[in-house]
Amino acid sequence: MRHTDKLIQGFSRFRRQYYESDSHVIQDLVRKGQAPQTLMIACSDSRVTPSATFDDLSLGEIFMVRNVANLVPPSETDHHLHGTSAAIEFAVDILEVENIVIKGHSHCGGIRALMTGEGGTFIGPWMNIAAQAREKVLREYAGADLVTQIRALERAAMTVSLKNLLTFTRVRERVEQGTLRLHAWYFDLDEGHLYGYEEERDDFRLLA
Ligand SMILES: [Zn+2]
Repeated sequence: MRHTDKLIQGFSRFRRQYYESDSHVIQDLVRKGQAPQTLMIACSDSRVTPSATFDDLSLGEIFMVRNVANLVPPSETDHHLHGTSAAIEFAVDILEVENIVIKGHSHCGGIRALMTGEGGTFIGPWMNIAAQAREKVLREYAGADLVTQIRALERAAMTVSLKNLLTFTRVRERVEQGTLRLHAWYFDLDEGHLYGYEEERDDFRLLA
């Protein structure tokens, strides 16, 4: 079976569950509009699909951005095209989500490209968002093996994204007002653990 046929079969099961049953979930979401509580910024990596790793997510619950290495660029008002920034603006200004979760992970190909200096036409410049995290890791983990440096960079890059979130005016205002909370969660694929960043300790602690 072609993979696209498998996808279409999956949609048929979804349709039976939501449109050919007594479920009014989607009709309600269409009528009332979406009101997600959380904006999640996750990596495009196929192994960390949030709807699979957060087991009981419902439709309408999460406003999702996925990009290479779950990065947040700084707020820039130039004439370039800012897909991730547009999604942040929509989620924070219009939908007024209560949380932003940056969800990183181990074995991230984008982070490996940043550390090794690989990367194509678009990946290289995009990963440069976290260049300062790379410098920090190279200082603090000088002499460590490449894998150790990459694991450290996966986490350090997320703290750059947290800082960059605060360059968006409305994000900063809402954080200061206490109506928006920022989180950075790291999924370790080897251990199956989820870690959360604690600003006071400048370190990650086990969440689940
Ligand atoms: Zn990744």
